[in-house]
Amino acid sequence: MSDAIVVLNAGSSSVKFSLFVERAGALEPDIRGQVEALFTTPHFVAKGPDGVVLSEKTWAGGVALGHDGALEHLLGVLRERLASDRLVGVGHRVVHGGALYDRPVRIDAEVLADLRRFEPLAPLHQPHNLAPIAAILERAPDLPQVACFDTSFHRSNPALAQMFGLPYEMFEQGVRRYGFHGLSYEFIASVLPATDPAAATGRTVVLHLGNGASMCALAGGRSVASSMGFTAVDGLMMGTRTGSLDPGVVLYLMTERGMDARAIEKLIYNQSGLLGVSGISSDMRTLLASPEPRARLAVDLYCYRIRRELGSLVAALGGVDAIVFTAGIGENSAEIRSAICRDAQWLGVELDEAANAAGASRISAPGSRVSVWCIATNEELMIASHTRQLLAT
Ligand code: ADP
Repeated sequence: MSDAIVVLNAGSSSVKFSLFVERAGALEPDIRGQVEALFTTPHFVAKGPDGVVLSEKTWAGGVALGHDGALEHLLGVLRERLASDRLVGVGHRVVHGGALYDRPVRIDAEVLADLRRFEPLAPLHQPHNLAPIAAILERAPDLPQVACFDTSFHRSNPALAQMFGLPYEMFEQGVRRYGFHGLSYEFIASVLPATDPAAATGRTVVLHLGNGASMCALAGGRSVASSMGFTAVDGLMMGTRTGSLDPGVVLYLMTERGMDARAIEKLIYNQSGLLGVSGISSDMRTLLASPEPRARLAVDLYCYRIRRELGSLVAALGGVDAIVFTAGIGENSAEIRSAICRDAQWLGVELDEAANAAGASRISAPGSRVSVWCIATNEELMIASHTRQLLAT
């Protein structure tokens, strides 16, 4: 009988899960999958490590399964799968740990109440992240749960990097730059020593380019600055999010266009970015394949914003030794990596086009002053490792 850990990532309309089983002292991925469209046409799928579908279920349209229903189905599937193994804990991805939680934490009722206080800081994510935690606390209070935060990794940022030019009391009250995608950056930092020892002790900029996108400056493997701020809408332009936006635009939309907070939230989170600029899609693959000039424009703006933000993070580090691409676009699009590296030639970046096209791990030319890497991120493994570590102590 082996120990098993399940990792949950609950969003507004889906619950993603990954199961890890401990074998020979290492956490090995077992099944993974999700329940999506929780409130419209719920669909569940679980796949084995080889990607083969092992279990699937579709509910009739109009069935509002919700987080509770999804969790119940999921626990049933896990119980069956774990017939000969023992579920020892659940690790949760939680977007916000506030200024205090600089590391994962074992959850009890008190911690859960604490995490609820951060809901106003991430209203689109935090309540959904916490929903399965509360449900498990109620149904299986003896099953250990651990919360791992997207913000924790950035708590090592110096105070200056966490401050806005607002009255100081606001910083003390929590209006500060938190930074996100921390579990992804922590994973990259954890594999850097084996990949590029010089970068691990030196200055590295990591580009996490998925539907959500951000960049992080690592000094000796610790985060010293990142492109996201108080919320995950800041920094780079993303699939549907604006990225950095002059707050004067928001004031203008409110006073001159009569838009309220909800309408602006929808605009800056769901209707902007690649989707808003192109008018076609938020999906990078679709835009790269499109002959439409506005698709090209959206891709060009995407890369231009990365070019500007890269300069900013390199300035925060006082130079750069390595650049790492990760997440959906970073791991898979040779074209975007190539465009970004062309823009970064002034920093001493020289791309090996053949290695890049082949999807190699090291994609910089042998003589490049800055080494460039393409590394698949693994936030789920990070959460599972934290959970196992915390439960062992
Ligand atoms: P999420 O933030 O939802 O986890 P992902 O990390 O999966 O997102 O990234 C999704 C993005 O990656 C989409 O824009 C998708 O088009 C893009 N992507 C995936 N594969 C490729 C590819 N081969 N070429 C270009 N873009 C890709």
